[in-house]
Amino acid sequence: MGLAETGTRTTEALDPFGYATHEVLNQPPPLADYDAFGTDPVLPTIVRTFGAEWAKERLHEAGKVVGSAHVQELARQANRNLPELRTHDRFGHRVDRVDFHPAWHELMGLAIRHDTHALCWNDPRPGAQVARAALSYLWNQGENGICCPIGMTYSAVPILREDPARWAEWGKLVTSTAYDRRQIRAADKTGATVGMAMTEKQGGSDLRQTQTRALPNGDGTWSLVGHKWFFSVPHSDVFLTLARTPEGVSCFVVAGWLPDGSRNRLQVQRLKDKCGNKSNASSEVEFRGAIAHLIGEPGHGIRTGLRMNHYTRLDFAVGSAGLMRQAVAQAAHHVANRRAFQRALIDQPIMANVVADLALEAEAAAWLSFRFCAALDREKESESERLLGRIGAPIAKYWVCKRVPAVVVEALECHGGNGFIEDHLMARLYREAPLNGIWEGTGNVICLDVLRSMERTPDCVPALLDELRLARGADRRYDAELEALERDLLDIARQEGQARRFVERLAIMASAGLLLRHAPPSVADAFIATRVAGGYAGHFGDLPSGIDAGATARRAVPTLY
Ligand SMILES: Cc1cc2nc3c(=O)[nH]c(=O)nc-3n(C[C@H](O)[C@H](O)[C@H](O)COP(=O)(O)OP(=O)(O)OC[C@H]3O[C@@H](n4cnc5c(N)ncnc54)[C@H](O)[C@@H]3O)c2cc1C
Repeated sequence: MGLAETGTRTTEALDPFGYATHEVLNQPPPLADYDAFGTDPVLPTIVRTFGAEWAKERLHEAGKVVGSAHVQELARQANRNLPELRTHDRFGHRVDRVDFHPAWHELMGLAIRHDTHALCWNDPRPGAQVARAALSYLWNQGENGICCPIGMTYSAVPILREDPARWAEWGKLVTSTAYDRRQIRAADKTGATVGMAMTEKQGGSDLRQTQTRALPNGDGTWSLVGHKWFFSVPHSDVFLTLARTPEGVSCFVVAGWLPDGSRNRLQVQRLKDKCGNKSNASSEVEFRGAIAHLIGEPGHGIRTGLRMNHYTRLDFAVGSAGLMRQAVAQAAHHVANRRAFQRALIDQPIMANVVADLALEAEAAAWLSFRFCAALDREKESESERLLGRIGAPIAKYWVCKRVPAVVVEALECHGGNGFIEDHLMARLYREAPLNGIWEGTGNVICLDVLRSMERTPDCVPALLDELRLARGADRRYDAELEALERDLLDIARQEGQARRFVERLAIMASAGLLLRHAPPSVADAFIATRVAGGYAGHFGDLPSGIDAGATARRAVPTLY
């Protein structure tokens, strides 16, 4: 009986002419089907340290979903099949809807089912902000596009909650864990997401230039006339926006669809063709009498918006730390499973140094971001935590978002050519990496916010110094830099042009202090030797001799099931 008749698939049977020219060798298995929480070298300790251990089971579950081959495939599909704007139906009626690939909706449904948008509001026990942030950190490793509506929905809750009428209308829907993909009026839905439309053509940083006008309708509602130049998730069920009233720039709540089921009076002009964040729809929009409700005090809309920013900024810091972890996990997995010059790449001394250095950066970023989420958890009981959170959120947002592109680029290079090819998710992370540094306040604007916090809330400074002093005495290099910082602090803070360098120093010291207190001594030592003790060029692979780079690099390798 011939081989073909037995049904056995052999090379001979399939390839009788010998076209199989080679065996595929030395290609690592895909990093898929792993627990992104359980195999994270840092996150479980962070969660325990900041009082969110009760969420462990939920985080393991989310970690397994996020690390699954299925979610990776959904993320690929959602980024290859981009959202499309449908301005009109086939009969010519204006509809202003956005059509998504089913993969987007499945991803949204999974993340919302995990309560990534609202855990801390639905279950506000101690550590809840940290637990929710951990979900966000994990989902930023799954697919970044969905993290935009998830993060905005999370951040809008404290603002909506302050207005009883708006909360009665939206509270249940925006905290629901049942994702409802339908673009219809809220009354018929089981869940809702929130958007934020602030940026106009003439300027996104300087929102005092807002041109959109709000005209009173006489029944408690307003009609908005104007435009927004950036409006992500334009199919949001509800969004917050800014418009001018006689008192000045004010904040408004706008429903996407009116109670009679019609689209609110806004027109989506087009979707942005973006560098990254492709799965998510970002648009340009015109308000043509959009019906809106004022929220907060008239004339103080920017202040209301900034309160929301506090949450989104922390979410982007945590999200960027998650993005770093994904990049480092991919790189560590690749080099542990590929050989060159008779050794696994991870055992080549320079590569071990590079991966260890990347892992250090990711570990420091996670501690820094989560520390200020923990401040949110504690701020009601402790004034010093509130002050620490005020100055800490922009420090973390600036620094972690600034470092993530560098980490992703180096992690991509660890993959050689494969990293640059679209089949691999590193290419997507590469396009995604700069974005968190732009929205919710660009780097310069965030540094100005740190200076503003010191000027307007001067008690932030002792709160931050007290936090840094908790690690005093553990390392003389740290102590020396702390002393220098204490001496120079107020002087430097007066020099606006030095703000980046200054915020960088604060971020590095806050990270170093956290590592000294909570991380393995070898990690803290390596971080301080490079980032605090001076002479660090900012490139990866710069750890001095005497540090066990191999062990640190191996610690970053995720284990598959
Ligand atoms: C993909 C994407 C999605 C977005 N989605 C939304 C959205 O949903 N809703 C929304 O409202 N916005 C959104 N934005 C807009 C984003 O928030 C703005 O782009 C951002 O706030 C910067 O505003 P701008 O683009 O007008 O730049 P500008 O304000 O013009 O800033 C340009 C540069 O000048 C710098 N700069 C500004 N002021 C100062 C200063 N005083 N000193 C020193 N430097 C300064 C900035 O740091 C920046 O580098 C989105 C942006 C992107 C890229």
